[in-house]
Amino acid sequence: MNKIEQMSALINGQSYQNGKWVEIISPTTNEVIGQVPALTKNEIDKAYQIAFDAQKLWAEMPLLARIKVLNQWKELITSHKEKIADLMVLEIAKGRKAAITEVERSVMYIDYTFEEMKRIHPRAYNGDSWNAKNKLGIFEYVPKGVVLAISPFNYPVNLAISKIIPALVAGNSVVFKPASQGSLVGLYLAQLAKATEIPAGVFNAVSGKGSEIGDILVENPLINVISFTGSPEVGKHIASKSLKVDMILELGGKDPAIVLADADLEDTASKIIKGAFSYSGQRCTAIKRVLVDAKVKNQLAKILVAKVAKLSVGKPEDDCDITPVIDNKTVKYIQGLISDALKKGAKNLIGNKVEGNLMMPTLIDNVKENMKLAWEEPFGPVLPIISFKDIEQAISIANKSEYGLQAAIFTTNINSALSIAKRLETGTVNINDQTQRGPDHFPFTGIKDSGLGAQGIHDSLISFMRPKGIVLNWKD
Ligand code: NAP
Repeated sequence: MNKIEQMSALINGQSYQNGKWVEIISPTTNEVIGQVPALTKNEIDKAYQIAFDAQKLWAEMPLLARIKVLNQWKELITSHKEKIADLMVLEIAKGRKAAITEVERSVMYIDYTFEEMKRIHPRAYNGDSWNAKNKLGIFEYVPKGVVLAISPFNYPVNLAISKIIPALVAGNSVVFKPASQGSLVGLYLAQLAKATEIPAGVFNAVSGKGSEIGDILVENPLINVISFTGSPEVGKHIASKSLKVDMILELGGKDPAIVLADADLEDTASKIIKGAFSYSGQRCTAIKRVLVDAKVKNQLAKILVAKVAKLSVGKPEDDCDITPVIDNKTVKYIQGLISDALKKGAKNLIGNKVEGNLMMPTLIDNVKENMKLAWEEPFGPVLPIISFKDIEQAISIANKSEYGLQAAIFTTNINSALSIAKRLETGTVNINDQTQRGPDHFPFTGIKDSGLGAQGIHDSLISFMRPKGIVLNWKD
């Protein structure tokens, strides 16, 4: 066997292994490429106790002192970005350039979060407006306590950092659990944190299969906030287990690109291709269905086919547009969605071939509402095309989804764009651009099965704090 990457958990500022392992399999070769500790209940409970004990002193440290030590972590992430990117290529088959961009974006996120935190000030209320003239209420933002951060495989740096950093800078302690496929990266980040002056126990990273340790992780009574990104199934399960805990959930999506007849079709098609096929469609905000006016459907489909044919397909090391999807289970699931659609009368325009975990980018036309592909989230490089006869039908199909993350509208008529945008049941609507999470300081929310609570730098910081009031009373 080739040398494999072996990582440690981080508990109380110390690297930790227990001799039990979760094996990490390469999406590209299906070989074991690494292992991370399979922690048990006692070890996870210990991490929570340590995080709980460390939090109070951490919260008492001056903000600028917290920022100073967290900034050391940022510097190490920056100077180790090549290694972090190599791990992403290896572990989640992300193209190398995209992996580097993810690290750089996360570093920018950290800087912005520090600045935003410095500008969060207490709110003051005058009692006079409630017939209480001699009262002044001052409400500071204080940390909530212990945060459990659970990240998914697809953005192992950005979706870890965007939970951990706002939680920590706001004065909370953190127990971080990366996705198993993504935990070589997650635990490597933790090793970098170990080399800083962040006080022991303030940041802890644990690992193990979610299916085995999930309930142990989320049911611990010391948790104050759970920040989770992942599938709706797991998100709902966590919500059912964790009563009386604040929760921020970022779940799945089935984002539509709604294309009106007056859209600039060439530009629209370029943005749809980028939105649907970047990182092989494994993005929560990927465009996962095209809803197009029947009058221009064939024209748009033709341009899309030509652009899909130009996508490079191959290895993440070679920076191909389409790289192997995360695992074999996902391949089978996506193939099932495609064959259900084809059986019911849909038409394959291009793609629908598989080699191992490498799926050719696929466009399926004539998708109808009775097909699973119209509603389910594939998380891979397949895009269904659904035509509509008028705007009412487009809005109705868009809103019928159980998801409500984002939508895109392509049109040259600003009146149509705004009027449709107001009626779409999603967290965000992008006009004339692909659906996307960033810029990261914008609020990011999902409704229905797409999530709970808001993120984005300011909203994330606020979600990890609560207002604490001190009320001044005086006599005239
Ligand atoms: P996932 O299978 O739900 O896993 C997400 C995380 O939950 C992983 O760390 C996983 O650990 C853990 N987990 C699994 N079972 C658990 C349990 N019972 N209790 C607690 N934690 C548990 O999702 P994924 O495959 O990594 O990511 C893909 C999904 O995430 C898609 O649905 C996508 O749309 C969604 N996503 C949403 C956003 C957003 O911002 N809305 C962003 C990115 C991704 P293991 O890996 O060890 O199982």
